[in-house]
Amino acid sequence: MSWELPERISVREVGPRDGLQNEEPVPTDAKVELIDALSGTGVRRIEAVSFVRPAAIPQMADAEEVWKRAAKAPSVRYSALVPNLRGALRALDAGFTELEAVVSASEAHNQKNVNRSVGRSLDEIAEVIAIAHARGATVQVIVSTAWGCPYTGDVPVSRTVAVAGRAVADGADSVSFGDTTGMATPTRVRDLVGAFRSAHPETGLNLHFHNTRGTGLANVLAALELGVADFDASVGGLGGCPYAPGATGNIATEELVHMAEDMGVATGIDLEAMIAAAARAERLVGRTLPSQVLRAGPRTRTVPS
Ligand code: ZN
Repeated sequence: MSWELPERISVREVGPRDGLQNEEPVPTDAKVELIDALSGTGVRRIEAVSFVRPAAIPQMADAEEVWKRAAKAPSVRYSALVPNLRGALRALDAGFTELEAVVSASEAHNQKNVNRSVGRSLDEIAEVIAIAHARGATVQVIVSTAWGCPYTGDVPVSRTVAVAGRAVADGADSVSFGDTTGMATPTRVRDLVGAFRSAHPETGLNLHFHNTRGTGLANVLAALELGVADFDASVGGLGGCPYAPGATGNIATEELVHMAEDMGVATGIDLEAMIAAAARAERLVGRTLPSQVLRAGPRTRTVPS
């Protein structure tokens, strides 16, 4: 039986940003240590920091300092998440050449999150794209709550595709769908990816799953079968869900690597190195992380007989 999957995928490690932003604040040193450890795992993309208002998200208040001190590996593309034009200018001034601009598919979530309508956020993202392009940087537009909103429930596929479509029309270099609330299931992945691909066959697509309800890797597998090759994951499963206290956050990078590599899908990531980075992440945040591969080790690990 042949199973058509991509030969290789590109994993973006989001632990230093999406992960740490949803943990208790850690010192600047710890953030730099984590980024540097991840840079040595073979991962090719790292979401390093976000340039948000320090008053709103104290976990990321030292973004400039973290980025200044992190060792930049030539093999890694580092990106910064920006919520608005002000954040984009900070990221560009700090030297980032890959930005991630974010907007919610859900009107209610966008209002709560950034206190403005989706339309206004998209207007500002168009400005971010223009300025970034003028300064030689690329912009991926992240559509969060792509599969559902914590305040209003399901978000229709047509709505998520329309929000993404506006960003594509405004020049977004690629799109990422974020399952912020962990509401995606494999059929819902097929529906949204299929609809987006039909509308925008030329646009690069990255997917960002949270394992809030245990469907994270099943969603990845559904996307792999559709040929999607760009995925976010967080070392150790670092992070959480701001809408469900105590719930699991992003899919764990080492779990994704473990599954993909065994299926013949190359990631370029050294599994043992990523597990070691997950153990370090666990020490840095001082709590047990949810990654099962961190607990159990690689599938070929043996015990003394
Ligand atoms: Zn996330």
